[in-house]
Formats: sequence, structure tokens, C-alpha cells
Amino acid sequence: MTTITRFAPSPTGRLHVGNIRTALHNWLLARKAGGTFLLRIDDTDAARSREEYVAAIRNDLAWLGLTPDGEERQSERLAKYEAAFEALKAAGRIYPAYETAQELELKRKIQLGRGLPPIYDRASLALSEGERAAKEAEGIAPHWRFKLDHDEAIRWEDGVRGAQKFDPAQLSDPVIRRADGSWLYMLPSAVDDLDMGVTDVLRGEDHVSNTAVQIQMFTALIAAQYTAAHMPRFAHEALLVGREGKLSKRLGSLGCDAFRDQGFEPMAIVSLLARLGTSQPVEPFVKVRPLIETFDLSTFGRAPAKFDEAELARLNAQIVHQLPLEAVQGFVPADFTPEAWHAIRPNLEKASEVVEWWQVVTGPIPAQDFSDEDRAYLAQALAALEWSETPWQTLTASLKAATGRKGKELFLPLRRALTGMDHGPDMKELLPLIGEAEAQARLEQGAKPPRS
Ligand code: GLU
Repeated sequence: MTTITRFAPSPTGRLHVGNIRTALHNWLLARKAGGTFLLRIDDTDAARSREEYVAAIRNDLAWLGLTPDGEERQSERLAKYEAAFEALKAAGRIYPAYETAQELELKRKIQLGRGLPPIYDRASLALSEGERAAKEAEGIAPHWRFKLDHDEAIRWEDGVRGAQKFDPAQLSDPVIRRADGSWLYMLPSAVDDLDMGVTDVLRGEDHVSNTAVQIQMFTALIAAQYTAAHMPRFAHEALLVGREGKLSKRLGSLGCDAFRDQGFEPMAIVSLLARLGTSQPVEPFVKVRPLIETFDLSTFGRAPAKFDEAELARLNAQIVHQLPLEAVQGFVPADFTPEAWHAIRPNLEKASEVVEWWQVVTGPIPAQDFSDEDRAYLAQALAALEWSETPWQTLTASLKAATGRKGKELFLPLRRALTGMDHGPDMKELLPLIGEAEAQARLEQGAKPPRS
């Protein structure tokens, strides 16, 4: 059976790093198996769903390289949900409920006050035909609940959490449809997973109890001959938390926009999120292939995965240090050479910083203040500058012999005069890029007394 996974965001906001991680893992799972990765837009909530978020979700996935093999929209599938609803109703698995939100809240409070779990008491299920008719005659439109089968424990073998067992009597019969006919998440998702032949449902562990309910829905839909499809496998990954170990607000708002604005490489995010929370090491990958090949749910841990922006920054730098020149072509002018990229690349944390270092090569550079002693030294350097294949080595060797300077004393005034900076790329590689005439001019400038 071909593996089919899906990523099912609700377009009610931007994707955040937690959603991105779920999308990535579903993509990796499908790619590793040579299967299909679907994007399912969960837009049954017409009031909160927005087209701009649908577009943003597509863009974010494209930017990360997580292209879906197909896209489905729940808002276009309402007839399917209606058919499933009718099938389950005919099978006695759906019943109307008449409580108002306030009544339900009161019931909850009373249960909690008595130290009982706030499980729906099925009062509406107990209504007689006559009582129901009376409610309807009063003009109360029902909402609809799925009737859980209390006879047997719900069990599944979770791809991350291992053997799972739920007592259905400890769960409320879920509301699946509102009084206005609109759908809540639970049933449409189960219907789609069956209709789309989803083989693996991989999502956050906040969905574990939904899975228990949905397993009964899958079973009921198959039993009601709504479909001949099979129940998918399930895996629930531990949630993503901030470095301090909490579900921070910041993580909830951190998404591709922020990553792009901060100049992070998509592969830095992919490299980090692919392995975070697993027993495999987080490593900088420029290409995604090795991450596909090594993707393995059995390496996923049960403890929350800690997302650390400093780790992302480190990984980003390590990735930039491996990027080919083509990857930065958008930032640099046409005369930017492979030698320049080779010299500058090891110094970058973000690819965009290449612009600043290229400016150091081409100039102008900021003027520096030197002591009298260093000015004399720079004058000496100017006189000693001899252009060759290796001008830096020649220059520093002759200055070392002539002045007895070494280490920082020998190198730093030269670097400052030649680049306007006290740190940066290897001068052996940088000086040939700066060129003879410009190097002379910069040393001359450095040797000049300060303007008073
Ligand atoms: N739209 C749901 C969510 O964003 C999908 C959950 C699922 O993967 O089934 O939480």
C-alpha cells in the first residue's frame, strides 16, 4: 500500500514553528516511503478561515521545499460529510443534543465541584421521542453528538508512543456538528482520512484523545459501509517547547516570515526541526536527501522537543559555510568571483552578510585611527608591499623580519588599515581580492597623520 500522509492546517492564522515541524515530518515520512504528501486545508470554520492564510501556507511550504503532491479543501467536501453523517445517524451513532452552552457549563461546574471528571452526562440521549419533539416545538435546534461505544477499550499501537489504551466511558460524546449545520473538526477529518486513503496520521500529542474518538468514528464508518477504506496508523509526536521548557507565546508566533526576515536558510529550519526531539543528532544539511533517508519515527522521544533559536543560528552558519556560490547570486554583483565566495563564506552567519564583506573588498572602507607607532609601521608596510600570487604572506614575512613584530601586533594594524575592521576573512584570501592599487591606497591612508 502506498504511504499517504497529510498536513491539515486550519487557515485561521500563519503557520508557526510547531505546525512547520508537523508538516515536515509528514513530508519526510511520505518521501522516504516514495509515497504521497497531501495538503488538506481544514476550512470548515468559514468565519475564521481566510484565503490570505491559505496562500501563506502554500508559500511557506514552498519556501521550505515541502511541496505537496495534492491539495484538498474541506469547504469543497461538505456533501461527503453530509453522507457520512447520514450513514452514522442511520447506524444509531449520532444523536441530537439540546443543551445550551450555559447549561453545559453549569453541568461541568457541578461535576468539577463534586470532584468528578467533566464528562457529558448523555442527558439528551436519554430523551424520549416525545421530549425531543417538545424541544423542537419550542424552536430549539439541536447540535449533534457522536455516540461513543462504551463496550470496549480503545486501543492502538502509536508510532511514537507505543501501545495506547483509552476507556471510552471517560470521554464525552463529542459534538460533531453545530445547530446551524456547520461542522466541527472531528468527523470531517476522519471522513477525509478514509476518503483520501491516508495511511499514516502523524500529528502533535495534543491530538491523542481526538485519535481515541476518531478510531471509533473510523470503525463506525467502515461498519456502516460508508467506505471500504482502512483505518490509518497513528503517531503522535511530543510537542515543541521553547528553550526554557515551556510552550511559549513566542513559539506560537514564530513562523516562516520571521525566519525569512532574519535571513535564515530554509534548510537550517528543516535540518533542525527534522531531528529535534529524536535520538538522531541535529546536523547541518544543505540537501534534504539524507534527512529523508534517515527519517525514522522509532527515534522520536516522548519528552518535549526544545526549540532554541541560538541552535538555529549555529546551524544556519554551518549551512551557509557549505553553500555554493549560486545560492547567493541574488545578493552579489556580476563581478563577484568564486575566489571571493571562498574567502568570505567561512565568515558568514547569514548568507545576506556577503554584501557587507564584498563592500569591504570593493571599498570604500571606514577610516581608522592609529597610534604614531602604528602609522609608522603602516608606512613601512606600504613600502614593503610587493604584489605576487601571495601578497599577504610576502608582506607579513618581510615586516616580521624588519620590525620584529609578531602575532596581533604584526597583523592587526594591517587588517584594520586594509579592511576597516578588526576581524574578518582570512587576509591571505582577502588581500588578492582587494587588489594592489586599492591596498596601496588603504595603507597610505592608514599611514597618514590624523586630520586635526
Ligand atoms: N486542522 C487540525 C489542526 O490544525 C488538524 C489536525 C489533524 O492533523 O488531524 O489541529
